[in-house]
Amino acid sequence: GSFETLGLSVAVLKGIRRKGYQLPTPIQRKAIPLMMQGQDLVAMARTGSGKTAAFVIPILERLGGHSTRAGARALILSPTRELALQTHKVVGELARFTDLRRAALVGGDSMEAQFAELAANPDIIIATPGRLMHHLQEVTGMTLRTVQVCVFDEADRLFELGFAEQLKSILQRLGEGRQTLLLSATMPQGLAEFARAGMKDAAFVRL
Ligand code: AMP
Repeated sequence: GSFETLGLSVAVLKGIRRKGYQLPTPIQRKAIPLMMQGQDLVAMARTGSGKTAAFVIPILERLGGHSTRAGARALILSPTRELALQTHKVVGELARFTDLRRAALVGGDSMEAQFAELAANPDIIIATPGRLMHHLQEVTGMTLRTVQVCVFDEADRLFELGFAEQLKSILQRLGEGRQTLLLSATMPQGLAEFARAGMKDAAFVRL
């Protein structure tokens, strides 16, 4: 299996090549086709498996190009500022040949700068749960109803870090017909319950 056989657009394939990826990793081979079909997915995957590109590539394909309508269409939740900024960078690199816009909403940066990023109408938001909730409380009219794809990355760490209540609140604000993806190295009970409550007929990929 090569990236060419996955049915990707020319723009995304160019981004993958520019990033230097030759062949998809096992998780990319499994997850990309399922995600491109719109399937909800629980993936047991560790850092180093290529998990980031496994969800970023299908998000770019599903969104296609920039939308002038208000509201982000993809949301990626990360447990830490460092992971969120790393993911933000990977999105930028893989989306280089598209016109998709992204914004990082993480703690430690000024709210003002992030208001400006939101005003530029990002298609993809990469956020830590605390800062995302802060924006939802501060910005009148900010909605997650437009989100069509939501990713909970390193979900076990999201829960360990005490974000459970915020995650439930975020889940309730998402659009009804959205696609949900949950990546985790482990699957504790609380997380399995969260996945059951928030996802529909999720496929399970283990590597
Ligand atoms: P991740 O598991 O997302 O943290 O990725 C681990 C490392 O693998 C990162 O340095 C990625 O840039 C790299 N990587 C991801 N996908 C591929 C691929 N298909 N070919 C080569 N390297 C990759």
